Amino acid sequence: MDLEEKEKELEKIAQRVASCRKCSLYKNTTKPVPGEGNSQAEVIFIGEAPGYWEDQQGRPFVGQAGKLLNELLQLIKLPRENVFIANVVKHRPPGNRDPLPGEIEACKEFLDAQIKIIDPKIIVTLGRFSLNKFFPGEFISKIHGQARFVEFAGRKRIVIPMYHPAAALRNEKIMEELRSDFQKISKFLENSSSVEEDNKEKKIEKQLSFL
Ligand code: URA
Repeated sequence: MDLEEKEKELEKIAQRVASCRKCSLYKNTTKPVPGEGNSQAEVIFIGEAPGYWEDQQGRPFVGQAGKLLNELLQLIKLPRENVFIANVVKHRPPGNRDPLPGEIEACKEFLDAQIKIIDPKIIVTLGRFSLNKFFPGEFISKIHGQARFVEFAGRKRIVIPMYHPAAALRNEKIMEELRSDFQKISKFLENSSSVEEDNKEKKIEKQLSFL
């Protein structure tokens, strides 16, 4: 698909999200938040669900967590315009509660279609809901920063699970981990590291931290 086709397809998804009635979340929202960014992105970030500011503006990650995401992107010199940012759920859950399994299931087709169209090399999951999409039953505290190959939408992609920026804002240790995990993105974009090498390094780092 060329740029124009991809943009057209993503726009169609945004329109379908806007009129989606497959779950009841739309009832209490101001704007749908389908996701935004570069339709040819090599990296897609997947968060949880829109919060207050996202719901007001119809854009993902524009509140406090979004500010941190922008800083992390600057840290690795990856312009926000070069990536795509989406959520597991596209309408804000009331009071920012966790999305329910039925809501995640109802929204799944939109996120899957976005990944298929954008066709990214790297998928970064932010928080436990997007982690569960790729690695059900795994814990973020155990596998954050560990890149793995996942067969998704017809090809092998690198999935790197990371903590949610909102969790980092509440905990300095998680902030450090998130900053360090973000460096992985540039490493894989430069093609200088294989998934196996990277995880070997991560294990050694962990062992050293126990010494
Ligand atoms: N948190 C998320 O998971 N997604 C957003 O878009 C904003 C905050």
